[in-house]
Amino acid sequence: MIRSLSPRVEAVFWFLLTATGYFLLASLSLQATKGADNIAAVWPPSGYFLALLLLMPDGVRTRAASFAGMIAASLAANIWSGVPLASCLAYSLANGCEAAVALWLIRRREPGDLSFMVPRSVAVFCISALGASLVSAGLVWALTGVLAGASFDFFLSWFTTVLLGMLIVTPPIVMLARMVGSSALGNASIAMKAEAAAILTGAGLVTILAFTQAHFPLTFLPCIAAVAAAYRLGPFGAAAGILIVTIITSLLTGQGHGPIAAIEEAPKIKVLFLQFYLLSLLFTTLPLAALLIVRQRLAKRLEQSNRWLLQAEAAALVGHWRVDLVGWTIHWSDQAYRIHGLVPGSPVDVHYSVKQYVAEDGAAVRKILEDAVRTGEPFEFQGRIRRADGEIRHVKSHGSIEKGRGGQAIAIFGTVQDVTETVENARILEAARSAAERVANTDMLTGLPNRRHTLAFLEKALARARDHGAPLAVAIFDIDHFKRINDTHGHAMGDRVIHRVAQRAKGALRDEDMLGRIGGEEFVCILQRASAQAAEIVAERVRKAVEVGMAAEDGLPGATISVGLAIYDGEPDVEELLHRADQALYVAKREGRNRLRRAA
Ligand code: GH3
Ligand code: MG
Ligand code: MG
Repeated sequence: MIRSLSPRVEAVFWFLLTATGYFLLASLSLQATKGADNIAAVWPPSGYFLALLLLMPDGVRTRAASFAGMIAASLAANIWSGVPLASCLAYSLANGCEAAVALWLIRRREPGDLSFMVPRSVAVFCISALGASLVSAGLVWALTGVLAGASFDFFLSWFTTVLLGMLIVTPPIVMLARMVGSSALGNASIAMKAEAAAILTGAGLVTILAFTQAHFPLTFLPCIAAVAAAYRLGPFGAAAGILIVTIITSLLTGQGHGPIAAIEEAPKIKVLFLQFYLLSLLFTTLPLAALLIVRQRLAKRLEQSNRWLLQAEAAALVGHWRVDLVGWTIHWSDQAYRIHGLVPGSPVDVHYSVKQYVAEDGAAVRKILEDAVRTGEPFEFQGRIRRADGEIRHVKSHGSIEKGRGGQAIAIFGTVQDVTETVENARILEAARSAAERVANTDMLTGLPNRRHTLAFLEKALARARDHGAPLAVAIFDIDHFKRINDTHGHAMGDRVIHRVAQRAKGALRDEDMLGRIGGEEFVCILQRASAQAAEIVAERVRKAVEVGMAAEDGLPGATISVGLAIYDGEPDVEELLHRADQALYVAKREGRNRLRRAA
């Protein structure tokens, strides 16, 4: 509202606000101290003026108007109270300078808005007020010293009075104005406002109770009230509480009431006592309030981080857990509970969490955790758990060891993720991959490995034979006069013959041998770990099995095969070895078929 005024009106507004407030506070203070030998304990106008300077918008015109208002009000109040004119001028000049110095010192460290919620800013404010009060006291001492020979006591009295005025009056005014300006006051609930009013009224009543009598030592009561206001209401409560206590104690003591007025000492000492009392109150309550606000902010930030963590865990389906190795307790995050099929917060212990793993995985998990504790190394494990509802789920954990000051393991911290879907997808993918591989490697008619797969297998067998000297023999066989079978019985019958021949041949081989179909009615037997004689015996057994077996087949024409055998003899590649076997097969065909021939 104030910012929207024209610069001239704005200057007039600040002039009037400064002048009226300053005049009222100065007159009141001067009147209140009349009864106590004109010695004031606190000079509130200094605090009021500094508060206005901190609140007003930056600008030479407004500042100048405010300073003019202050000087005018100060002169008027002093003259009205009967202070000699020369002193009036000296006091007003000192008070004006002190405000300028305080503002300059504060703005040097805090160029933006000074916040009484930040401990560092509060320290800057206190130090600036101290510096300004010293300048003020020095100046007034020098000026009045020149005029009337002022004592050092006067310097000290001026200094503490102005310092207390700033320290006690500025913070509540600035905070209250900011609250009104930021609508924080409007946003506060009725209960909060009622509590604030009750606490501050309580502080006032307690102070009145303590300072209207001198029979009981109750000076500590206002301190407790101010601390309570700081504890419940934060820095504003502290500042407002101190201001209330200051006003009441100053007025009552000034009028000769209460324990400080009852001290049998010179008025000067009583004022000093009161000032010391107020300073003690200030320096116990303000830091406490600042620390409280820091703690509150930390607690809020912590709570928010925790909420974000839980949200992130729920979104990523990852939980966390921590085993305290000292107390032997376990903590699960909400998502960890959900992964284990439990309601968050249910009681769990270390034993239960390990027992959730199915027997074989539980043993492995325990071993991995024991190893991690022993070595201090990060770990990772995956296992199946049986959830509370009986469902088996796959979970994966990553973790690390927390170490104490002495380097010993004090806790195990880990994340846990339900990877059942990933495991299931991997299993389906693997099944599909191996089925596709089977199809790609299998001959559809006979179910035997096809040409590609057979030759690949032979390639590896040859490499083993070459590198490790493993025995290897290859037998190629071909059905005799197969064209005739096709021609006589049809192609379909031909297929059935090929299928049965393959089965007969396979039945005659050993487990370690491999049989593949490499052409229309041509097959290869790869005979491993067999000497030349043994290979020959196996090949002959195959030939015989086909001859005898096919003769005995019901509804199928008889069929025989010719076999060409080649024993590995350092051939550089598969083609060469097969070529030798092929040549032997050719010899077998030429020499009458249904026989075995071995390559030379
Ligand atoms: P040989 O004793 O010299 O081997 O005489 P053969 O008649 O068996 O001659 P060859 O081995 O050259 O004949 C192969 C025949 O097999 C030619 C082709 O028509 C037939 N054939 C090739 N593949 C298949 C098949 O998958 N099914 C059927 N039914 N016949 C096939
Ligand atoms: Mg053939
Ligand atoms: Mg043939």
